[in-house]
Amino acid sequence: MFVQPKVRLGNKSYTQTELQDYRKANTQRYNQQVRHDSRNKEYTTFYNSTQWRKLRIQVLTRDNYLCQHCLAQGVVNDKDLIVHHKIELKRDWSKRLDMENLEAVCISCHNKIHEK
Ligand SMILES: [Zn+2]
Ligand SMILES: [Zn+2]
Repeated sequence: MFVQPKVRLGNKSYTQTELQDYRKANTQRYNQQVRHDSRNKEYTTFYNSTQWRKLRIQVLTRDNYLCQHCLAQGVVNDKDLIVHHKIELKRDWSKRLDMENLEAVCISCHNKIHEK
């Protein structure tokens, strides 16, 4: 029977096949990381854009500077507001500037939304 020569890495030894899989997994992890980072950069640029800053104010004005989730519970809350994307950027980039997809929420409601 053919026995694959083993390669020692640290205190483990691997066959060529195992090493190939190992390298493949590493490359995949690396690519995911790079893709993730460039995506993040895209989001940061978006959140820093004048377009977004203006739209944010429009949404806050439309929602009377009140957390829409607290309001639904009958609570008037105008503290720590942020503008939330109902459909997140990473799920649908085209809805990032859609007023219908945006709402004013407070930080604690926002945390609850994203906990789900
Ligand atoms: Zn709230
Ligand atoms: Zn959000």
